[in-house]
Amino acid sequence: MKTPGKARVYLVGAGPGDPELITVKGLRLLQQADCVVYDALADSALLSHCRPNCEKVYVGKRAGNHALPQEEINRLLIDCATKYACTVRLKGGDPYVFGRGSEEAMALLSAGVACEVVPGITSAIAGPAAMGVPVTHRGICSQFTVFTGHEMAGKEESSLDIKSIAASEGTKVILMGMSHLRHTLQQLMEAGMMPSTPAAAVQWATTPRQRWVTATVATLADVVEQSGVTSPAAVVIGDVVGLQTELAPTVAPRRLAGKRVVVTRTREQASALSSALREYGADVLELPTIRIAPPSDRADFAAAVVDSPHYDWLIFSSPNGVKKFFEAFFSVYEDIRELGGARIAAVGPGTAAELKKYGLMVDVMPQKAVAEELIAEFDRKGDEFGGVANVTMLWIHSEKGRDIVYKELMKRQAIVDECIAYNTVPETEDPTGARGRLAAEGADLVTFTSSSTVHNFMALGIKLPAGCKVASIGPVTSATLREYGIEPDMESEKHNIGHLVQTILAGLSDGK
Ligand code: SAH
Repeated sequence: MKTPGKARVYLVGAGPGDPELITVKGLRLLQQADCVVYDALADSALLSHCRPNCEKVYVGKRAGNHALPQEEINRLLIDCATKYACTVRLKGGDPYVFGRGSEEAMALLSAGVACEVVPGITSAIAGPAAMGVPVTHRGICSQFTVFTGHEMAGKEESSLDIKSIAASEGTKVILMGMSHLRHTLQQLMEAGMMPSTPAAAVQWATTPRQRWVTATVATLADVVEQSGVTSPAAVVIGDVVGLQTELAPTVAPRRLAGKRVVVTRTREQASALSSALREYGADVLELPTIRIAPPSDRADFAAAVVDSPHYDWLIFSSPNGVKKFFEAFFSVYEDIRELGGARIAAVGPGTAAELKKYGLMVDVMPQKAVAEELIAEFDRKGDEFGGVANVTMLWIHSEKGRDIVYKELMKRQAIVDECIAYNTVPETEDPTGARGRLAAEGADLVTFTSSSTVHNFMALGIKLPAGCKVASIGPVTSATLREYGIEPDMESEKHNIGHLVQTILAGLSDGK
């Protein structure tokens, strides 16, 4: 909430579309923001980085509705600064390239609100690049001009000097140019541009919906019309377009292009699967069904963390448990060595990998991440460390965890205390707007990466779209799906994200 006198509005460039093309600084501010004001072009997946209680205000166009008028957006931003310490105004591409960002900055400054611009990658450059066209190339052109095609509508008042644009050297890029494309190209030719000059249009550049066409200045309007490429698209004109064939290998391969895939993990866990699928060009809808929340008894958790250096063993039941435990640990202790010489057990490789981030190796870990296997591993390796009888153990787990670990270790005479580090609760928000998109646009595939994602998905009452396939991470998750009468179309052979992605690649391209 607001720290008096310190409120700041950041005009952040979201990049051209791919949510990974935001700057590091922009991403950090999004993660810190108390409030985000955004519009249509910024990829809504970016919003999944926001804190759970961050206020999100959409000011763009909705189907059939106009965007909020600029004056109202300006007022809204000023208003946000009275309520929040950190407001992010997220704008597609770069905020100062046809984004009215400078108008917003001026309005804020004249209202006495501190405002900072965080540049972004503009579609004027990234758009052509994403289809294999560089805006400059030594020996071909050393200059490029970016202009808006929107101005062409009101020819009389246009501030564009189309004659000098046509006469100028180098590459031309037109943004917002699709509705008047034919007219603009005509004007350029009338002003002396060679009709045979190579030209291209790229729509939804850097996103899974990316499409492009190449032609010449004379033919582009027809080609665009036939192909159905429409706004938002960047038009690029010049000899550099001819380099497209040679540079095609620089364009990311997209085996899952055009496929919409739903990821149902928690917000915290979704990113690994989502970014792997995006690498292959899938249109990923992150639809978190569960959220990591603090445990019901925070005082108990805090006390357990404070006492943790006194145990012979620390037993971690999940990667989330590791994260939450150490978040709390480092708010009390400064140095990892405060933990002492406890032995460490992890329920499986994922949890061990999380521990490794803190420089901690595990003494006991089963290959399969289930509680029974962990106990079996304790039995197998018992001799190495003198068994578990009379040994003190702290079991770090989630509120909804199974109590097998506790019961079985107690049976073997261990002295086990519990440390409940977090709780999982149903995600009731639609932080990325993905639930809305799923309902409106459907999907090709829904992925389930655990039984709890299945239960939670079903509990939210979301219907699987017609013809949508289902991928499961393994037999246990598949069995849970069958409980709901759903037969998975594909099942990963090994219980990990890498294999799941390979299974999806095989499954989605085969079954086309
Ligand atoms: N500030 C933005 C531009 C805003 S004007 C930037 O720097 O990119 C909106 C226009 O940008 C659209 O009409 C289209 O011409 C272009 N545009 C934005 N995103 C695009 C994308 N992913 N692919 C192609 N063109 C895009």
